[in-house]
Amino acid sequence: MRTGDSTENETATSEAIVVFGVTGDLVHKQIFPALQGLVADEGLDVPIIGVARSAWTDDDLRNRAKDSVQRAGSFDAAAFEKLARRLVYVRGDYGAPETYLHMREAVGKARNPVFYMAIPPSVFPVVTAALAESGYSRGARVIIEKPFGRDLASAVELNETLHAHFPESAIFRIDHFLGKEPVQNITYTRFANSVLEPIWNRDHIRSIQITQAEDFGVGNRGGFYEEAGAVRDVLQNHLLQLLAILMMDPPAGNQDSYGVEKTMLLRAVRPLRKKNVVRGQYQGYRSEKGVDPSSNVETFVAVHLEVDSWRWAGVPVYIRAGKKLAESSTEAFIEFKRPPREAFGESITPSSSHLRVRISPDVFVALGLRVKIPGERMVGEDAELTVTSCPRDLEPPYQRLLADAMRGKRELFASEDGVEASWRIVDPILNDPPPVHSYRSGSWGPAEARKLIGVDGPWINPAPGGETTDRSCTRSGT
Ligand code: NDP
Repeated sequence: MRTGDSTENETATSEAIVVFGVTGDLVHKQIFPALQGLVADEGLDVPIIGVARSAWTDDDLRNRAKDSVQRAGSFDAAAFEKLARRLVYVRGDYGAPETYLHMREAVGKARNPVFYMAIPPSVFPVVTAALAESGYSRGARVIIEKPFGRDLASAVELNETLHAHFPESAIFRIDHFLGKEPVQNITYTRFANSVLEPIWNRDHIRSIQITQAEDFGVGNRGGFYEEAGAVRDVLQNHLLQLLAILMMDPPAGNQDSYGVEKTMLLRAVRPLRKKNVVRGQYQGYRSEKGVDPSSNVETFVAVHLEVDSWRWAGVPVYIRAGKKLAESSTEAFIEFKRPPREAFGESITPSSSHLRVRISPDVFVALGLRVKIPGERMVGEDAELTVTSCPRDLEPPYQRLLADAMRGKRELFASEDGVEASWRIVDPILNDPPPVHSYRSGSWGPAEARKLIGVDGPWINPAPGGETTDRSCTRSGT
């Protein structure tokens, strides 16, 4: 990623990175390891300017970066040394004009810098306006972090704030989930194999389920979670994006068509009604630190979605997500239709024939089929062929996303239309939520979730993840 001549076009590689909020938590957890990874893997060699209020020096910033990569377990002495040489700290309040003067001096002649906004959404308007005033409306890129609003109205407002100063092509909305290898694995598996296309529709698919389960609670993030809940924290963003990738039409091939097809799918999803939603809260949540003792915030949500398109009409889609469940794992389960009649007089498990896509903690795509048990009798058993398997994600998502943003590649970022389309789906239940049901820690959520899926079920619980330190991947037949 060494930069060549810079131009003000959408494909020029950024020649400087400015990180607003460099003293904060997100940068410590994710951005320094990603930057070191880019230095090691792609030869990143550009000025990296951190801007925040704390009274730090360049050396303080370097020490913080070192602590970050050490804690992440990824310290690489040679790469870190190169990274540290490029780090510069600019101290200043985002409301003060001189902050941007100092920042511009540090950015130097770069025409296409990338501005990473690891800052509270409340300061977006002042920072974006100041960047525009500093002459960066053309050529620069702006990376912003979720949450992209709290509901449809605030998402629209945020997009208007950004568009007042930057074109959509310069805005990169990070949802790190989209940068994960397994999520890209789905896109690849779907569109690199034409054999799937004829069966990827209502004629052959009986139902689609997505489960994101965590076996832990809110920990010390109770205060944050009280403002979010499962719908805002994971359903509106990660899980609806995953759904869009699973169900979208094939993209035409140019860089924007991927986002357009995802948005089209989300626009075809009917907005949720109360009867299609179950909210749950794990027992003990109200005693967690930072949580209101009478809180009605959901730590579990299950929804039934309907997609109004020719391809998907009548195919039930179920998504559930929750904390303090029986396992920590995320899977999508695509169940194929059963044979029209039982040819061998045995009752076949409803879910025998399926594609299972595992997102975490390990990564795989597996095809489930009913196979004959050797012997005289025509009886069978369920079997699964693992097509591709990896013990865990290989490249940290932030590294991949940062590299793409610097090159102006937009496929893995959320678009304005896509964000608004997904808020439109959940908006009705944010304003008028159904009651919250209590559930036991270590269970699969409240009993009402089983009633929700009814005859389209049962819910398929993801298997526990395999713990391994092996970083190699396997593919069947290799
Ligand atoms: P923090 O509160 O830890 O950090 C905020 C940063 O912004 C600090 O560097 C702070 O500087 C700086 N800042 C805030 N206001 C000003 C100001 N007026 N002038 C100068 N600097 C200012 O937040 P996080 O790192 O946790 O989160 C950042 C963003 O990323 C948020 O939008 C959050 O929602 C999002 N996010 C965070 C995740 C996480 O895991 N933390 C995960 C996903 C998204 P200083 O402290 O020096 O004053």
